Amino acid sequence: MKKHNFSAGPCVLPKSVMEQAAAAVLNFDDGLSLLEISHRSKPFVDVMENARSLALELLGLEGKGYKALFLQGGASTQFLMVALNLLEKRAGYLNTGTWADKAIKEAKIYDDIYEIGSSKSANYNYIPKGYDIPEDYDYFHCTSNNTIFGTQMKSFPNSPIPMVCDMSSDIFSRQLDFSKFDLIYAGAQKNMGPAGTTLVVIKEDILGKVSRKIPSMMNYKEHISKGSMFNTPPVFAVYVSMLTLEWLKNLGGIKAIEKENEKKARLIYSEIDLNPLFKGYSVKEDRSIMNATFTLENENLKETFESMVKEAGINGINGHRSVGGYRASMYNALSLDSVKALVEVMSELESKA
Ligand code: PMP
Repeated sequence: MKKHNFSAGPCVLPKSVMEQAAAAVLNFDDGLSLLEISHRSKPFVDVMENARSLALELLGLEGKGYKALFLQGGASTQFLMVALNLLEKRAGYLNTGTWADKAIKEAKIYDDIYEIGSSKSANYNYIPKGYDIPEDYDYFHCTSNNTIFGTQMKSFPNSPIPMVCDMSSDIFSRQLDFSKFDLIYAGAQKNMGPAGTTLVVIKEDILGKVSRKIPSMMNYKEHISKGSMFNTPPVFAVYVSMLTLEWLKNLGGIKAIEKENEKKARLIYSEIDLNPLFKGYSVKEDRSIMNATFTLENENLKETFESMVKEAGINGINGHRSVGGYRASMYNALSLDSVKALVEVMSELESKA
């Protein structure tokens, strides 16, 4: 039976992408596997260039002074790289969850980071609003979607300083004016591909303004000048990301997938709100369309619910330990039918209770 995969990441990818990826492992170019050709060979250089330009095209950032890189070390390495490359005297961070908190921790190695806003005391169930961004800071850092808590920034400030955003868990899922951001980063393993590469999109003119020496592997300028091939790139992760970006482009791009994502989110949240057995975790206005977090009100029904979930072929809905309950991650490749299957189980539980 086909599984309904609600995993928070790594997660569901389009079936056609999996098939093409599997085929390329066996035969990518003239009888050779994607995994055994040189990253400097033309077929792979073409993959890298295509992936980089597709990313910019889908975000509407082509010809606007941005460069796309596919780096390694996960989004977690970006917490550090952002600070190394951009932080001279002071930066402001919006603390909206575990990942934002980790980004702050890394940047604090270099400076006393200022938390412009925080929802930590409410265990991050909302997005702080009405904050001011000091004009004399180096940059402002935010997290567009908080994977663990299920909150999402619905609007972004008009920042007077460069705006950096961790979009790991909602990149390519909704239309935004991406040109508002000066640096965007996202681990591939949610909406883009397998774990192993991180997309970084940078407006080039924000670089070169810090006085410290930056080690080559940590230096965005170095990666840009080498066409994202400073060292051997993660060839498989980049290839599968390219396939997923092609898949998205063929579907009609972000505009088309956003409509699907909204349908999925409406369906699950209306069940959470109407079914008295369940309660949403995050405040309504900040609910994520990617990760719906909720709890079961009656603990006695836990076992029954979980066995019904299993029976329906639903995978990966256990909540993160810092929130508890459940989390339905509904990334781009998850079908509306999968959300329908989960909602059916939730409403069947109500009829049984
Ligand atoms: N930021 C966000 C919003 C995330 O969801 C995650 C991982 N789930 C990370 C950063 C860390 O990513 P990585 O594991 O690629 O370092």
